[in-house]
Amino acid sequence: MSFIVAIDGPAGTGKGTVTAIIAKKLNLVNIDTGATYRCVTLEMLENNIGLEDSDEIKKLLENIKIELKNENGIQKVFLNDKDVTDEIRSKRVTEFVSQVSGIKQIRLKMASLQREMGLKQDSIMEGRDIGTYVFPDANVKIYLDADVEERAKRRLIQNKEKNINMSYEEILENIKMRDANDKAKEIGALKVAEDAIVIDTTHLTIDEVVNKIIDIINKNRSMYV
Ligand code: C5P
Repeated sequence: MSFIVAIDGPAGTGKGTVTAIIAKKLNLVNIDTGATYRCVTLEMLENNIGLEDSDEIKKLLENIKIELKNENGIQKVFLNDKDVTDEIRSKRVTEFVSQVSGIKQIRLKMASLQREMGLKQDSIMEGRDIGTYVFPDANVKIYLDADVEERAKRRLIQNKEKNINMSYEEILENIKMRDANDKAKEIGALKVAEDAIVIDTTHLTIDEVVNKIIDIINKNRSMYV
């Protein structure tokens, strides 16, 4: 089996940023599992498919093609061959995605797609349920956490860089709503795996988090080879 690093935790804890840096440094494939749920959400919005529309959702899932590609060190997301890297971060997708990801048929399909991606090569996967549900036997399990106000502040800065127009209050409310939805899921709920190492990033720099995780991975990887 491939070597799998699971990075779980709620929004704004730095998962995406540190995962991208570690992937590059340790030559691991970076798999952003949230992007897969964002693609399904975008496709549902574009086709006016509601949360209760299970027949339409079934058809959508049969035909959907989601690819994560690394282009010159930048992760790109393709939905049915179209580059949707920026579009999936929009406000409308962000507001709807945690409800979409709570639908059982969608979770089952995305988890199997994510497993397929992870089994191909040594990978670092970030999400909510990687260490508990997608890869419960992952070689390394990290759970990142941080105070909710700090997480909202970080997302505000990131959104400004990406020209996404959401106020601090909107972001804070959205993060709290997503945390609650994610923790209440029937399958793959957001929770700390029993054997995960928890890192509170509230008062840590990105470099400090990256270095801590790299130390943990290196210890495990030397035993694995
Ligand atoms: O990580 P990101 O914020 O892009 O994830 C978007 C949403 O997708 C989350 O709010 C969560 O509801 C869902 N998600 C999930 N399981 C994962 C990754 C993301 O339910 N493994």
